Amino acid sequence: MSSWTASTTPTPVFREEWLDAALELLKPWIHKQYTSPGFAHSVALSVGFPPGSRGPSNNGTIITAVCFAPSETEDGRCAIFINPAINDSYDVVGNLVHEYGHAVVGHDEGHRKNGLFSIYCKDVDLLPPLTRTIPGPRLRKKIQEVIAQIGTYEAIHAKIDLSTRVKQETYQLKGSCR
Ligand SMILES: [Zn+2]
Repeated sequence: MSSWTASTTPTPVFREEWLDAALELLKPWIHKQYTSPGFAHSVALSVGFPPGSRGPSNNGTIITAVCFAPSETEDGRCAIFINPAINDSYDVVGNLVHEYGHAVVGHDEGHRKNGLFSIYCKDVDLLPPLTRTIPGPRLRKKIQEVIAQIGTYEAIHAKIDLSTRVKQETYQLKGSCR
């Protein structure tokens, strides 16, 4: 008998693969915790700069993620973008679970006090305030399980530090290939 057991989730190689795998592993748990009304929107996950977050911040805070509503996307799916400036697995998944919450409860709810989104955050253990994305101990434990299965996000994505960005002079040049 072999002691080797096949993993059901292959180790992701690309950033989006990791995000997809992490969310798929968390979904059953999320939907067991949050049982209030919601949508079953399909979501597209990417790494990318949320609107207005492409430069170094003045006050030290950055927009770490965004979820576009189905009404804002051509295919009617929710579109989540995780800022490439973050790469801590717990931070990234905290953002992912937060943004996924907007898809689940609906964008109209926003961060309304005592609304469905606040119930969602409590249920999935995202710590207050509602605009933040910090996992509490229950969610951290789930993230730990995800990391045990698919490795860390840090291993795939190196943080982008916008404050050290070199100004590019070749910005507008078009490349060609023949
Ligand atoms: Zn939000």
